[in-house]
Amino acid sequence: MEKGQYWNEKIETLPTEEIKKLQLQKLREQVKHCYENSSFYRKKFDSVNLKPEDIKTLDDLKKIPFTVKSDLKENYPFGMVTVPSDEIVEVHASSGTTGNPIVGAYTKGDMEMWQEIMARSIYTAGGRRQDVIHIAYGYGLFTGGLGFHYGVQKLGAKIVPASGGMTQRQIKLMKDLGVTMLACTPSFAVYLAETMAQEGVVPQRDLKLKRGMFGAEPWSDKIRERIQKDLGIEAFDVYGLTELCGPGVSVECNQHDGLHIWEDHFIVETIDPNTGESLPNGEEGELVFTTLTKTGMPMLRYRTRDISKINREKCKCGRTHARMQRITGRSDDMLIIRGVNVFPSQVEYAVMCFSELATQYLIVVDRPGALDTFVVKVELCEKACKDTQLDRNSLKSEIQKRIHIVTGISADVEIVKPGELPRTEGKAKRVLDLRKGKM
Ligand code: ADP
Ligand code: ZN
Repeated sequence: MEKGQYWNEKIETLPTEEIKKLQLQKLREQVKHCYENSSFYRKKFDSVNLKPEDIKTLDDLKKIPFTVKSDLKENYPFGMVTVPSDEIVEVHASSGTTGNPIVGAYTKGDMEMWQEIMARSIYTAGGRRQDVIHIAYGYGLFTGGLGFHYGVQKLGAKIVPASGGMTQRQIKLMKDLGVTMLACTPSFAVYLAETMAQEGVVPQRDLKLKRGMFGAEPWSDKIRERIQKDLGIEAFDVYGLTELCGPGVSVECNQHDGLHIWEDHFIVETIDPNTGESLPNGEEGELVFTTLTKTGMPMLRYRTRDISKINREKCKCGRTHARMQRITGRSDDMLIIRGVNVFPSQVEYAVMCFSELATQYLIVVDRPGALDTFVVKVELCEKACKDTQLDRNSLKSEIQKRIHIVTGISADVEIVKPGELPRTEGKAKRVLDLRKGKM
């Protein structure tokens, strides 16, 4: 049966008041479940003299202490599971971008929930049963590959489970199998586009690709413009984390003005990352999520360290679920250079303003003496490299100026040849901080 504009019209367009009613009812159940089945959560509640019955309104959520990444690491691997062990049917783990892995444990119900919101997310990004969907997120413990796989399966479209690696072969498959939709990290999308250009493949001419869903790492609007132009597609942002389920927590609709958070499964808050104070809607801060429907490993007020802001205005697409602005960065990724807070995404934004540059860049921070050094390595694109008229010194000083405007501090820019900076097939590595161990 073909659906209309929505995967689940009733839920996606539910009036805000109704969503809140639903959230309160589910929140109370989730809190009770956690309190009764987890010594971890019981201790947290007891430490502030809180009982599940004290959660009477959505605002009472704020009385619950936060759950943080170190809680998961200390309780590795299954200390935060709230069901008997034989009810866990699948485990995943984060790629450990920042330290030890974090394990996610799923019951059958959790798997169905994940599959449902992934299908809903893909549908919201325009995926339909007729699509051929190429999944180039890594398969395995990482939630990206299998998360998309389960979602596309539910949608009923055709899956090409490419996973990472063998870029040339992936391009051949995309061509031969008539792939219409691509799912991968934005940095891999850029790499695919570059490789296609080298191989003489023109996506607009040789492929049937129409759209892509990119996430798992921060990416700027400038990178989006490049991906859309170079691959000839419409690009959608998709967000999630292992602790909550994996991808599918939120996704962009065709308005591309923030990612709808599926509020029938999650409550979102923003807090000041330094003080933990709740922030009003629309103010930028750290996202905190509470799961409403998970049974294996529920999260109450989980601090993501991801920085964004929430928009509760009604979206033109008709969906009533709140939107989060694309992630500016992780508070973990924030660099403090000469006392100034710098996000890699700010540098990315500055660098991507120059059409002479390729999309790869690397930030190198060091402390050889008393002062931090801040070097940004950028790559010329093939065309600019061949351009004998190009004044590299003035380009360099323009880039330095732009980085200074965006970050507030001065960087040394090094321009390197096309292809010189390292590429990754998963999440990109943008920062080399050589100060570690020297401080
Ligand atoms: P890790 O990266 O810690 O190994 P995960 O694979 O669970 O673990 O990744 C989740 C994290 O990836 C999120 O907390 C967020 O920092 C980042 N992320 C996921 N999707 C996006 C997105 N669309 N934009 C920016 N960052 C994202
Ligand atoms: Zn929308």
